[in-house]
Amino acid sequence: MGDYFERIVDVEVGADGAGALAEQMIDWMVSRGRLSRETSRERMYSLQVDEGYVPGPEWAQITQRWGEDWMPGPVAVIVGRFAHYPGQGEVEPSAAHCPHCRTATVIIDYPQRWKADAAVWQPFSDAIHAWQNTGAGAATCAACATTSPITSWQWADDFALGALAFDFWGWPPLTDDFVTEFGARLGHRIVHHTGKF
Ligand SMILES: [Zn+2]
Repeated sequence: MGDYFERIVDVEVGADGAGALAEQMIDWMVSRGRLSRETSRERMYSLQVDEGYVPGPEWAQITQRWGEDWMPGPVAVIVGRFAHYPGQGEVEPSAAHCPHCRTATVIIDYPQRWKADAAVWQPFSDAIHAWQNTGAGAATCAACATTSPITSWQWADDFALGALAFDFWGWPPLTDDFVTEFGARLGHRIVHHTGKF
């Protein structure tokens, strides 16, 4: 079960502020006994970092009960501009919603298609790569012709672009109260993933 993860992505913080915010969040988690300063590389599979913070003595306060002998894995703190996919592999979001007119651009036409329409996805993919490399990327809506920053688009399937993310590896399900509290601490909109790797 150690290959189970939950991820909280801050989809608003900029890359320049993400490192300091990550430190604040770690300090807060450690002060509440939810994380330790100790790090480990065991039982975690984040793509971007290879070690995380091990649980603190009070970790069970923020999870559902999975039995007394359960021990969660590390929490990876991912700083930097990344595209975060909710599950295993990197399946494109099925749609992108224009921040200006809210029209959905269909990327994967389920259930007729099971793969992204390459011509539709390409400009989004290019904008995401530009954002990762430079901090700025934009895509133009086919419906209203407005060009908007790629980070302002809304994505189907919990696809998320963010400069700060936390991967909880092998933790029992985090409580809704904790996820809400965590988002409030971040002070930004979050996307919450649960999945298996
Ligand atoms: Zn539009």
